[in-house]
Amino acid sequence: MEMRPLGSTGLVVSVIGLGTVKLGRDQGVRYPGGARIPSDDEARELIHAAADLGITLIDTAPAYGTSEARLGALLAGQRDRWTIVTKVGEEFEGGVSRFDFSAAAVRASVERSLARLRTDRVECVLIHSDGVIENAPAIDDTIDELERLKARGLVQYFGASTKTVSGGLRSLDRCDVVMVTLNLAAKDDLSVIAEARKRSKGVFIKKALASGHAAVGGAGAGTAGLGLDPVGASLRFALNTPGVSSVIVGTSSPTHLAENCRVVGGV
Ligand code: NAP
Repeated sequence: MEMRPLGSTGLVVSVIGLGTVKLGRDQGVRYPGGARIPSDDEARELIHAAADLGITLIDTAPAYGTSEARLGALLAGQRDRWTIVTKVGEEFEGGVSRFDFSAAAVRASVERSLARLRTDRVECVLIHSDGVIENAPAIDDTIDELERLKARGLVQYFGASTKTVSGGLRSLDRCDVVMVTLNLAAKDDLSVIAEARKRSKGVFIKKALASGHAAVGGAGAGTAGLGLDPVGASLRFALNTPGVSSVIVGTSSPTHLAENCRVVGGV
């Protein structure tokens, strides 16, 4: 597995990371065919497969249902081999998202994430943007609190998972890391990635497979006419973009995870 530096943080991460929406949430998702929450045995097999493949990076969030709590149990005894990314600002309950980016909510969220993940610190926390906060003056209060959490040692690095180019660019001013969308049908954030590279910031990619639609040749996924390997073409496009640290691919399938590592030359 190829490893890359996460900007200038000093962390080094596997170029494929494991996205864990599907580990804990089956509502409000846009995957082809929806999502089925894996059993405990299936979840354990997925984490074992990730470790065997050399993946060191896991992305979760309070908004991913039981994902954090399940990871807490699954990673017990192997905490130090993983770089954990979680988020703040979004809650998903009863099929509905709620957003609160206030300092108090951010502090409470991180403390709860640490309890759920059964750890005393996470390597990275991202603002789980609703697309508005990233362009609003109030983001400075959110970031001030993340800096305090960093000073307390609960969070090593922080950043924002953004939805707009302006928000991505703005978040680079005060963040260590940005998470942006990049796939063959969604290239707007290339300008954010280029700027992040100039400033030596870490870059995570989300939705590299257009939330799975690229793999099944879905309309608008940018993979029509790519022939037999739309997954490989999509993942290589993201990873070969200068400045990208790691592509976080969501999957609940050990077979897909292995394929994703193989097509980028990892194993
Ligand atoms: P994605 O990685 O583009 O696609 C995931 C989908 O692709 C899943 O349905 C998965 O199904 C399928 N898939 C994966 N590998 C495959 C393969 N080799 N062959 C066929 N299908 C394959 O989309 P995403 O999950 O939306 O985004 C990735 C991660 O980014 C998320 O899990 C999350 O961690 C993060 N994210 C963050 C935000 C945010 O911060 N706002 C938003 C979206 C995503 P199987 O389970 O069947 O493999």
